[in-house]
Amino acid sequence: MDTDTEVTVVGAGPTGLVAAAELARRGRRVRVLDGAPGAFPGPRGNGIQPRTLEVLDPLGVTDRLVALGTFGLSFRQYATDGAVRERDRHPGLDPTPDKPFARPMIIPQWRTTQVLRERLADFGAAVEQNARVVAVEQDRNGTTAVLADRRRVRSRYLVGADGGSSAVRRALGVGFLGETRDEVRMLLAEVELDGLDRDHWHQFDLVGAHGAGFLSLCPMPASPTWALGLRSPDPGWEADDATLHAVVDGIRPRVRLRRIGWSSTWRLNVRMADRFRVGRAFLAGDAAHVHSPAGGQGLNTGIQDAVNLGWKLAAVLDGAEEALLDTYEAERKPVAAEVLGLSSELSRYVLETGATGYADRPAALARQGLQFDISYRADPGEPGLRPGDRAPDAPLGDTTLFLLRRRADWTVLAFDGTAEPVVGAQVLDADALDADGCLRRAYEPLPGERVLIRPDGHLGWRGTGAMPAIGARSALGLPRMPADRQG
Ligand SMILES: Cc1cc2nc3c(=O)[nH]c(=O)nc-3n(C[C@H](O)[C@H](O)[C@H](O)COP(=O)(O)OP(=O)(O)OC[C@H]3O[C@@H](n4cnc5c(N)ncnc54)[C@H](O)[C@@H]3O)c2cc1C
Repeated sequence: MDTDTEVTVVGAGPTGLVAAAELARRGRRVRVLDGAPGAFPGPRGNGIQPRTLEVLDPLGVTDRLVALGTFGLSFRQYATDGAVRERDRHPGLDPTPDKPFARPMIIPQWRTTQVLRERLADFGAAVEQNARVVAVEQDRNGTTAVLADRRRVRSRYLVGADGGSSAVRRALGVGFLGETRDEVRMLLAEVELDGLDRDHWHQFDLVGAHGAGFLSLCPMPASPTWALGLRSPDPGWEADDATLHAVVDGIRPRVRLRRIGWSSTWRLNVRMADRFRVGRAFLAGDAAHVHSPAGGQGLNTGIQDAVNLGWKLAAVLDGAEEALLDTYEAERKPVAAEVLGLSSELSRYVLETGATGYADRPAALARQGLQFDISYRADPGEPGLRPGDRAPDAPLGDTTLFLLRRRADWTVLAFDGTAEPVVGAQVLDADALDADGCLRRAYEPLPGERVLIRPDGHLGWRGTGAMPAIGARSALGLPRMPADRQG
């Protein structure tokens, strides 16, 4: 077939960049089209969940992101009566042998995308700016992205990662169901200021005649900037610079705003696409689901969509069965629905109760927000670590399972002398590596069991019998598909 490339990725936000890099690092040809003149400048999604750091590790960006982010800010809350309360944002969350990253990391979104762009360039791909897609056509053999300047880009598959107002989603005729509530809004900005220390995330309670609100100021690591969030207590407030200055002038200790950079009004908008795949085109990230910013779920869910889709597209382009691609929607749509429910609940706490702040979430919601529990398992009730669940880490002498997983897409953990070669996977001899027993404790193998770990760090299969062929749908961890579509 005559194609310009193998995969067109529309949108160079975090989702599109990860999808493109996952393809490019496996040697697939990819073009990334973005309608904007340059990279997005604002902080937006400035929380990266620990599970996202894990799934990004094989791409080779986690070390760099961790070097530029921070886990260590504690929370300082200023009540209206002058009382100051200081708290750990995530009490009791410390790294363990099976979870090297235990807490959310703070890093501005512009920095995350900068790191991802650099990584994409390492694989010889670049973002094409000023390339706005206005239509998508497809036939049996491929897709065509039509640009505003009438250029046409032909490819075998297309990924729509073009954000909440996705042109790809509209072109595919996919519905975007949910709710928008204009009255629930928050002013978000990137600012520079004097008067506060940079070792804390500061939050000021605000009280008005009709209720409560807050002003949140979080220092962005490796940058002189702060992420500001304002929820005014006044019902008819204007989310503009004048309001911001008036609020900041009223707080104690005194804070002086030196510069207001990027700013935007966020409105409650919770929606999900009714399909994540139409033929050869896929939707991922905000194009498929938009969230409340409370709880830092949106960017994370988008990146994990991209990791899930990236390796499957690469595998199919490399000859794996096309039905693998059905598992993208089957696995990610239920996750998106769950995460939307979670971020809406978090949003109610952070935005609507007014008196609460980011550190006041109920423990269960806070834990779910870390995204470790995201699973593609068939039966949620089955005990133990099952296919579809997250594959835990384990220290192995002077290395770790996660470090070893960087060497190959698929990894087999072979217990009790079962370490024979497997086509398409690296086989790790658990008996030889697991001197401290951490692997056994994390995986609890049956005698003579082998465990297959997928490229995205979820269990694909475990058992004592014949292992399914790598890349086959049956090696994917029993995705939640309707019974008539299960293979
Ligand atoms: C104001 C605001 C605050 C937020 N705060 C948080 C937060 O605190 N925590 C959190 O986790 N998440 C937050 N989010 C959500 C988070 O920013 C998104 O979930 C994340 O950016 C999604 O990434 P994405 O790559 O899917 O989409 P986007 O980041 O929206 O990227 C889409 C890309 O597509 C490009 N594009 C758009 N249309 C076209 C087209 N027709 N053709 C070609 N290119 C196109 C755009 O230029 C852009 O580069 C916030 C979002 C907003 C808007």
